[in-house]
Amino acid sequence: MHGDIERILIPRQEIARRVRELAQQIIADHRSNDASPDLTIVPILTGAMIFCGDLIREMPIAMKIGMMTVSSYPGRSVLSQGAQVIQQQLANVKDRHVLVLDDILDSGKTMQVVVATLGELGAASVRACVLLRKDRPIAREIAVDYVGFEIPDEFVVGYGLDYNDYYRNVPDIVTLKRSVLEARP
Ligand code: 5GP
Ligand code: MG
Repeated sequence: MHGDIERILIPRQEIARRVRELAQQIIADHRSNDASPDLTIVPILTGAMIFCGDLIREMPIAMKIGMMTVSSYPGRSVLSQGAQVIQQQLANVKDRHVLVLDDILDSGKTMQVVVATLGELGAASVRACVLLRKDRPIAREIAVDYVGFEIPDEFVVGYGLDYNDYYRNVPDIVTLKRSVLEARP
């Protein structure tokens, strides 16, 4: 598996440092803006799973966790195929402050669909946090409240992000060799 990696874009130590910063910023904003301190965190599965696990352990405040599964890059695709909510396990988000977490903002379609869905379910407020944002004009048109890193417009895996469902367990954010992306079964 490690032979498939082309280069490390963001090493794990840098991710850990930035995740701590994001957590502190989110907590500070949350405490200053909201009457109700209670929060629902909604990671978008499967990609945001690891990010969520690390982030929430740096956030010592009352929170519930809901989950949504959205698919836009099925299988071996490296281009967004349009976002679709496949599953949700949200409990009750009505009148609650919600923080959506995603691994990466690319076309922004995923975030748009999720934020709209949470609004329809009656959330009191919806904020959005992405670990990565791709350097594409369209990604900047979508309002997100927190961005971990701006990255070049390349296909990345690791730290939860997959290619054909593999590589999520790579601890760093990396690019894959062209030969891997072009390989067919
Ligand atoms: P968007 O809807 O913003 O185009 O795409 C967001 C979703 O597409 C992310 O949640 C992620 O699952 C997937 N995605 C976008 N860019 C990449 C990428 O470079 N690598 C991987 N592995 N997934 C990506
Ligand atoms: Mg995703």
